[in-house]
Amino acid sequence: MNSTKVVPNVPIKDFKRTKILATIGPSTNSYEAILSLIKSGANGIRLNFSHGNNTEREEQIKWIRKASEEFGKPIAILQDLQGPKIRLGDFEGVIPVKKNQALCFKHKTDYKRSGIIPTQYDLSKKVKRGERVFLFDGKVKTTVTSVKDGVVFVRADNDGVLLKRKGINLPDTNFSGGVITKKDREDAVFGSIHEVDYVAQSFVQSAKDIVQLRKILNSLGSKAKIVAKIETVAAINNIEEIIQESDVVMVARGDLAVETAPEVVPIEQRRIVGLCRKLAKPVIIATQMLATMTESSEPTRAEVSDVATAVIIGTDCVMLSEETASGRYPIEAVKIMKRVIKYAEKNSPVDAVFRQQPDVYSRQSAICSAVITLTEEINASAIVAETKSGATAIQIASRRPDHPIIAVTSQKIVANQLTLVYGVKSYIRPDSREAASKLANWLERNKVLKKGDIVVTASGKYPGVIGTTDTIKVRVL
Ligand code: PGA
Ligand code: MN
Repeated sequence: MNSTKVVPNVPIKDFKRTKILATIGPSTNSYEAILSLIKSGANGIRLNFSHGNNTEREEQIKWIRKASEEFGKPIAILQDLQGPKIRLGDFEGVIPVKKNQALCFKHKTDYKRSGIIPTQYDLSKKVKRGERVFLFDGKVKTTVTSVKDGVVFVRADNDGVLLKRKGINLPDTNFSGGVITKKDREDAVFGSIHEVDYVAQSFVQSAKDIVQLRKILNSLGSKAKIVAKIETVAAINNIEEIIQESDVVMVARGDLAVETAPEVVPIEQRRIVGLCRKLAKPVIIATQMLATMTESSEPTRAEVSDVATAVIIGTDCVMLSEETASGRYPIEAVKIMKRVIKYAEKNSPVDAVFRQQPDVYSRQSAICSAVITLTEEINASAIVAETKSGATAIQIASRRPDHPIIAVTSQKIVANQLTLVYGVKSYIRPDSREAASKLANWLERNKVLKKGDIVVTASGKYPGVIGTTDTIKVRVL
């Protein structure tokens, strides 16, 4: 049994409840850097499959697993699939654009010879007349006037410039279930071989995309959970069905702002966090949280406020991208993020601005509610929940108790997955009728809990059988 033997010697009241997901890249491409991210507060590591290569990633995965083992803390590995991220192709110099100017695009063409701007993807098969095409991350907005023989003709809606390989967004285009690309499928095979804990799909448009990815993962024998990245107009319109079908949701604010508008993002962020809490699905807030720290050792006041706001509205997890992947201060960024989280958690109730009750009615949810009521009324030090699939821990977490949730599971992948969930600290132990109780004793011996602490345990008569939690106990250590 691969159980966690070492334990960082942190008293339970000092655990942070909101989790940190850190993207790795050139700035953190070593065992030492990854260990340092983990020691500084990262709970999960994101591998961005839009960059890098598989040889590199194979090594990174080994480093993450080794660092997790060494520090005695389960870590989630999240594989982020690129999805239909469309880019301009290669050309020399800068192409100036004037408002109302006609432009044309084609898959893999030579600009110098043809005067047609190259793209890395055949847009002509997807876009229709009247739809908008945003270039250079939304800096140049255009509208399609016609599509003919593989060439897309557009009219520019504003002045600007184009540079090679800049991103293209298609906010009006319906991919009708076609957001999983050939590259994504190949990458999913790699991810399943290397047993990643989460697979995130970019540019999700509807629940169908999630169903399709789940089929792919099942056929590969992968037990990874699915993260739906919300970054398209279609996803906003189909948000409830997407949340229902996914395991976790990510508010991918970068592309979401391009496809909608910057002012839309904070409002949608709040709405999505609320829906996820209601539907008991973990939610991650991503992109530009400490963007300044890519270059500077200090975040702006606005960035600090952004992280604190994410905590206060009750997000499960906050994410760092370039800050830790290619920034100059990756470790500092995680440390500051952790400080902001802990201060907000200590000094503001999660529900201060934003109260949301869960909306899932089942025997399991009723038991989880009872666990929390009891914990709060007797002011227990922790909740200890036996959980085979992680569902019991996630249900309890969706109520956002300000008490730590200790999850005991026999499944290594579940322990890793739970690291991104609000308030949950997971431990791997064999299925047994006393797993929760034994773990509480072990935590006391290791000074995480102390003698006299009260714990509320949730367990079942059939350890290891999903959905059989039926017993709540109050124990004084
Ligand atoms: P990306 O996703 O970093 O893969 O683009 C996040 C976002 O768009 O915000
Ligand atoms: Mn994106």
